[in-house]
Amino acid sequence: MSRKIRCARCPRLVALRRRLRRQYPDYHNAPVTATGPEDARLLIVGLAPGLHGANRSGRPFEGDSSGDLLFAALQAAAARLAGDGLQPPPWRITNAVKCLPPENRPRAAEIANCRSYLVREIAALPTPGAILTLGRVAHEAVLSTMKLNRGDHPFAHGAHYDAAPGTGLFASYHCSRYNQNTGRIDRERLTAVIEAAMRYQL
Ligand code: URA
Repeated sequence: MSRKIRCARCPRLVALRRRLRRQYPDYHNAPVTATGPEDARLLIVGLAPGLHGANRSGRPFEGDSSGDLLFAALQAAAARLAGDGLQPPPWRITNAVKCLPPENRPRAAEIANCRSYLVREIAALPTPGAILTLGRVAHEAVLSTMKLNRGDHPFAHGAHYDAAPGTGLFASYHCSRYNQNTGRIDRERLTAVIEAAMRYQL
């Protein structure tokens, strides 16, 4: 399990957590912090824990279909680099919002409340290093954290920006079950963006 933190900045999310502790006593039901080495050269930022995935396992993306796709694509991208004789960078996975939000929809104030965690995670990213955002909410949370303008860095699948000297920002559609079912994202599309992020300044 990832490191446990105590945080009560978002009353709505705290209330949900308390309710879920009674409903699912075996679940993590707490803020879900990042996994992977702190100095990983690739930081992957998702939206928020899924009810029966990260909120159960205590590890971002572990235990649901979003994670199944993300981990399959990470392995596929790493294999492509290895096939070219390149060492894939270690990765770290986190979320823009560390607690489960009702209906997977964090409010703007909740994203802002969680920003200080993302600030630290991004500050720990070595240079050169890459950030991969999964979905618009994560992308815009990273932009706010890095004080970057949305107009100059619009969200689009496959978009790539220089967020800071030696820091690449790569955007992908979120790997949610909904986006999988509607065909917006699939293993190949996600693998291609992850591969580009992994190859950044190798
Ligand atoms: N699980 C997570 O940890 N994050 C997401 O964005 C989706 C599922």
